[in-house]
Amino acid sequence: MDLYEFQGKELFRRVGIPVSEGRLALTPGEAKEAARELGCPVVVKAQVLTGGRGKAGGIKLAETPADAEARARDILGLDIRGHVVHQVWVERASEIAREYYLSVTFDRGAKKPLFMFTTQGGIDIEEVAATNPDALVRLHVDPLEGYHAWQGRRLVYGAGVTDPGEQKQIAAVVGKLYDAFVGYEAMLCEINPLIVTTEGEAGGKVLALDSKFTIDDNALFRHAELAEMRDLAAADPLERLAREKGVTYVKLDGEVGVLGNGAGLTMSTVDVVTFVGGRPANFCDLGGGGDAQGVVDALSVITQDPQVRSIFFNIFGGITRCDEVARGILQALAQMGIEDPIVVRLDGTNAEEGRRLLEEAAPANLRVEATMLDGARRAVELAA
Ligand code: GDP
Ligand code: MN
Repeated sequence: MDLYEFQGKELFRRVGIPVSEGRLALTPGEAKEAARELGCPVVVKAQVLTGGRGKAGGIKLAETPADAEARARDILGLDIRGHVVHQVWVERASEIAREYYLSVTFDRGAKKPLFMFTTQGGIDIEEVAATNPDALVRLHVDPLEGYHAWQGRRLVYGAGVTDPGEQKQIAAVVGKLYDAFVGYEAMLCEINPLIVTTEGEAGGKVLALDSKFTIDDNALFRHAELAEMRDLAAADPLERLAREKGVTYVKLDGEVGVLGNGAGLTMSTVDVVTFVGGRPANFCDLGGGGDAQGVVDALSVITQDPQVRSIFFNIFGGITRCDEVARGILQALAQMGIEDPIVVRLDGTNAEEGRRLLEEAAPANLRVEATMLDGARRAVELAA
């Protein structure tokens, strides 16, 4: 799960990484109010789950609240590489002396978290890695030993930061970023740019000016407060409905609705539908069960898609018996009344019993086929 900049910054703030104070605004009026509360100048920043917002016109400085309102009006509704801006983050503007880059992610080869730090921040890190690889300092942390303070110092000295005040502040941020990475079970925590401000006699202050934060989906169940950050509005409405119903569903572009049990079989079904010349409308995994409620939930999501012209159930009975699934399908159809043609292929435990149940009791728009290939052909034919 990718977090918006303002959400990542909130997590930074919680672990003690310095960030500017800011407010979220959904309208130009709210941006104006936010600027008034924060004090100008402010920066108005598009909140979208993609980088390079600056270059795309999604980040603007504002000198007055009225100016912040106007900049928010420019940015809201902007399309940044396919992401429409629905909210802006207004924060107190910083005076930037230097822009650095700091991240921690997994190095799967080394099986360890990997820090990267460079004083060439603000621009694409891939560009630094390609054109100036020596400027990018890399350092692994042994996950069993955990983080040690010398590691932060090595990054900072290695990259050639000379100011002692900066060295100290950045090394502290490195340690806190590791806390955030481990504590929130992230896959990536990136600060680009990590800035040094121009203010103060005693040298500049180090601040995280941007945030890119990816949480491991598989760990979300341990972090209720993060799961709430998931932006439902950004997802496809059908996928949102599916999530609410606990249905494993991915929207695709075609006409044949696909339901299988088990992710492997369902993916094969998507392939076979394509192989016989059709286009799958979705991927939908019924999971282990085949109870009526599960089938109703899955069908109610699939049939919400106006592109669906036929539905193909591909069930392999292992622990879940085919007769149970057949009963589930019949009960679901009795409750729902679906007009699209439905093709069912049952194989495995109690398949014959299941097929017999369907043939005896199924509505006229349901057909049973013996093999996956025949089922796919039939479903594609009926969608044409
Ligand atoms: P990105 O383009 O999506 O990576 O967005 P960033 O948050 O990294 O901002 C892009 C650039 O905008 C930064 O590298 C800065 O140069 C500039 N910027 C962002 N916030 C401020 C600010 O508070 N003050 C100033 N002067 N520039 C800023
Ligand atoms: Mn950035």
